[in-house]
Amino acid sequence: MFEVQDVSRVTKRDVIGGPIEASKRLGVLLHTTDGRNSLAWLQGASAVAGKPASADYLITRSGHIYKLMPKGHYAWHAGVTNLSGKVDTADYVSRSFIGIEVENADSAGQLPTRSQHEATAGLLLLLATVYDFSPLHVYGHYALAFPMGRRSDPHAWDWGLMFWLMAFAQAHISLLGDLSSIIAEGGE
Ligand SMILES: [Zn+2]
Repeated sequence: MFEVQDVSRVTKRDVIGGPIEASKRLGVLLHTTDGRNSLAWLQGASAVAGKPASADYLITRSGHIYKLMPKGHYAWHAGVTNLSGKVDTADYVSRSFIGIEVENADSAGQLPTRSQHEATAGLLLLLATVYDFSPLHVYGHYALAFPMGRRSDPHAWDWGLMFWLMAFAQAHISLLGDLSSIIAEGGE
């Protein structure tokens, strides 16, 4: 069952970015984590460790989706990129792209699960509907990080499987419709 659990109320302010309008969201940047306790890390432990970073969404190994940021706020999830053909600031990228972290022990050689691909496909379609961008507007962090090679995630991600699942889920998009109110960002 596809569901999104909003846990933004217990995300520490230290990792919450400033206000953002829904119309400024251009697409999705996909990441994988490297280790366990991703939820605690992204909700504040990263700040305690001196490098505040988070994500808009976290997808656990079983495919459970957590929404980490409060309505109308973005997450710091990307550093400098070259998306526009010039060097873009970290803030610009984090504002423009919704960050999804897929929980994975990258350096241990773990592979993302089928459930994570399914959840990501569903979430992408939902976000594309809510924010009015193409569901194809999804990048891997590695593809945009500047300088090239600075990042290598999402590790072992099966893009072909994800796009196939999106095509399948699109035929059942009505199932996702009533979830959009959880995600829609008003101007609060
Ligand atoms: Zn990343």
